[in-house]
Amino acid sequence: MNAKLDVVPMQNWINTNGKPLIIAGPCSAETEEQVLETARRIKAEGYAHIMRAGVWKPRTRPGSFEGNGEPALKWLVEAKKETGLPTAVEVATPEHIELALKYGVDVLWIGARTTVNPFNVQEIADALKGVDVPVLVKNPVNPDLALWVGAFERLQGAGIKKLGAIHRGFSNAQETKYRNSPMWAVAVELKRMFPELPLIGDPSHMAGKRAYLNELSQRILDLNYDGMIIETHRNPDEAWSDASQQLTPEALGEMLRELEVRKANYGSDFSDELAKLREKIDNIDRELMEVLAARMSVVEKLGEYKRDNNVAVLQLDRWKQLHADRANQAKGLGLYPEFIEEMFKLVHLESIRKQTEVMNSATV
Ligand code: PEP
Ligand code: MN
Repeated sequence: MNAKLDVVPMQNWINTNGKPLIIAGPCSAETEEQVLETARRIKAEGYAHIMRAGVWKPRTRPGSFEGNGEPALKWLVEAKKETGLPTAVEVATPEHIELALKYGVDVLWIGARTTVNPFNVQEIADALKGVDVPVLVKNPVNPDLALWVGAFERLQGAGIKKLGAIHRGFSNAQETKYRNSPMWAVAVELKRMFPELPLIGDPSHMAGKRAYLNELSQRILDLNYDGMIIETHRNPDEAWSDASQQLTPEALGEMLRELEVRKANYGSDFSDELAKLREKIDNIDRELMEVLAARMSVVEKLGEYKRDNNVAVLQLDRWKQLHADRANQAKGLGLYPEFIEEMFKLVHLESIRKQTEVMNSATV
């Protein structure tokens, strides 16, 4: 997939002094007091550059709290007047955009359930023509990078250059302990394609539970994201939406202070050590490939044997046994079992391809 985006650097629309951007605020704007109290407490902690709040809530099933709409925008105006914090809300329709802009919302974001629908995204892009507002796009609920990229292209087509991506993970995409599987590689690939596009992590919607926020936030910083959007509520357990993943503004402050921000670049002191370690990795990778080549030549012999004895290439019992054994061995070696499982799926697929090739070649 090849594409180009013309993106205004993030520091040109929100100055964070080079630090990771922090967008903090409740999942939903529930009441005027809740919005104002949360804003004050976030401001007092000093970490946030922008305050978020959901005003229109896309709920999976009807009957849950769907947001307060226009009145909530007025509360955000108040919160900004008091604290000076710029505001961000989710928009899903042209009407939302019109209202958000009318009340001076500073940053808009497109939610995961909207990014998934190109008709919706196009309507939003059309409504934004001629408007100079930063727009952040959450990944679609399914791990489809092209759909995510398509949303940026539609917005860019409407002239929007202050763009950013929010990585919030993917619904039920993989079995993990999290609410949404991070599938980091999808976001890393987006960053590889568009290095200038700010990438913001959303540990709250990845986690689903506040206990996982710390490890996910650290992972986001380790991957050198440009910032994070995190939900915080004055009284998390009583939140009208996403109660279990929110934490108080003070607990969020404590967590953020404990995280390590890694260096994006390194000075010459580090580069020697880094070069040595990279050389070791290059050597180990060569050994890995030599081992794979040795494995493939055994596979080839196995293919010949199966061919000569008219045995099917895929033996399901053997396949199951192989995967179970490798996962167990992985644990013993301190390797992440899911990684080993994925790796052996690929290795095994290649073995089958090779054996099929041998099977169909003539007997010598
Ligand atoms: C949200 O940010 O509150 C939200 C609805 O998130 P998502 O679009 O990631 O589900
Ligand atoms: Mn939420």
